[in-house]
Amino acid sequence: MSSTTKTAPIPLSRKPREAVEPGAKTACIRTFGCQMNVHDSDRIRRMIQDAGYAEVQRYEDADLVILNTCYVRENAVDRVRGHLGELNRLRREGRVKRVALTGCIGAAEESAALRQTYDIDLVLGTHNTYELAEFVGLPTMRETYTPELPGTEGGHSAFVTIMTGCNYQCSYCIVPTVRGRMICRPMESVIGEVENLVAGGTGYVTLLGQTVDAWRHEGKRFCDLLEAVSESAPRVWFTTSHPSNMEDRTLRAIGERDSIVKRLHLPVQSGSDRMLKVMHRGYKAERYRRKIEVFREAAPDGTLSTDIIVGHPGETEEDHEQTLRLVEDCAFDSAYIFKFSPRQGTEAASLPGTVPDSIVQRRFLEVLRQVEQNAFSRNQRKIGNEEEIYIRHGSTEDGKAIGETWSGHAVHVHTDAAPGDYVRARIESAGPHVLYAGEVDTSA
Ligand code: SAM
Ligand code: SF4
Repeated sequence: MSSTTKTAPIPLSRKPREAVEPGAKTACIRTFGCQMNVHDSDRIRRMIQDAGYAEVQRYEDADLVILNTCYVRENAVDRVRGHLGELNRLRREGRVKRVALTGCIGAAEESAALRQTYDIDLVLGTHNTYELAEFVGLPTMRETYTPELPGTEGGHSAFVTIMTGCNYQCSYCIVPTVRGRMICRPMESVIGEVENLVAGGTGYVTLLGQTVDAWRHEGKRFCDLLEAVSESAPRVWFTTSHPSNMEDRTLRAIGERDSIVKRLHLPVQSGSDRMLKVMHRGYKAERYRRKIEVFREAAPDGTLSTDIIVGHPGETEEDHEQTLRLVEDCAFDSAYIFKFSPRQGTEAASLPGTVPDSIVQRRFLEVLRQVEQNAFSRNQRKIGNEEEIYIRHGSTEDGKAIGETWSGHAVHVHTDAAPGDYVRARIESAGPHVLYAGEVDTSA
């Protein structure tokens, strides 16, 4: 679950200094925001590596710091301001030499104000990330849309961007402004990248985009692409989807195709038709419910998550009640719940009907409680099942690794198996957010 209330501490000096060859150029990349930004950071990483930089984790060890940023909610910008303030201090002490600001803030007008307040050497938006190449000493790259920039290959799991931008105009959302209109990547290009990744050892591919299910190219639709990818990759997932584009055929493919993780993230935003109209979402709550019925029938053990905004301007108590009813009916396994955050330049930022903070907070907690109750009781039903678990993060000091079942549940499991390995274990207990597995079955 997620809220917009907390400001994360700035992760500066906790990690030990890394061993870097004397005289080597060093760079630190800090990523804020969604998987798209994580993936963009992969590309940035490839560029700095090609330019001969050693990557370090602490600002104070870095010649160059790249903040790859998110602009979707105000608290994301507040976090970046905190980091920029700290970087100003380190520059004064001569510990950091150059700072680049990339990503969604870079594409927004806000970046001009940040540049006036803080020492920033380079600002790049999401469409001209390739210009970083020249900044780090590589030959100038030909202008190309982001998916064609080199990503990271050979990891046990990888993101593959299938589209950029978004053609929707949701009242509250800054994404179309900072990422532009939808551009779909050709099918052959996506399949080519997936095949290369798999040949290089990647076992888990996540197809990425703001509205992946809106992907279309030369008469092919998203389900065609998903089916083709599921033939090439051993494990596949995709995010994020839009309810208006989600076809029943795709939902059935999730259930039918063994290599697709049975996990659907389908942001609903509100359970009230009135609010969905104000938000320009393009569907009614009933249509969303029907999609969920198809998914539950296709993948009865699968997991369903969503995004919900509370406190959008004009949201009444009745609208909120309808969201609570939808949450109960859909029995989400998890949800990202956001308090409305006005973004300059969006329609909602100037709409009347601001909801007072205290009411937003109460509604937030009510939705959260409802989601957690449902998630907890659904997770309890998994206890006793033996599951095949994909290891996402290897074990930490306490010996616990974090994995994922084919149904898309997160699992804590005691094993020293490496990321990308599969283990089998029985689920022994469950909380609202995670399952806990017992001893790993080593007989298989
Ligand atoms: N494209 C996806 C979709 O249509 O659902 C979501 C992309 S957006 C980066 C991720 C989530 O952030 C949205 O689903 C929405 O719940 C939330 N969000 C976007 N703008 C927001 C705002 N101004 N205030 C609060 N939450 C917001
Ligand atoms: Fe934003 Fe709406 Fe596009 Fe999602 S579909 S990125 S919420 S405008």
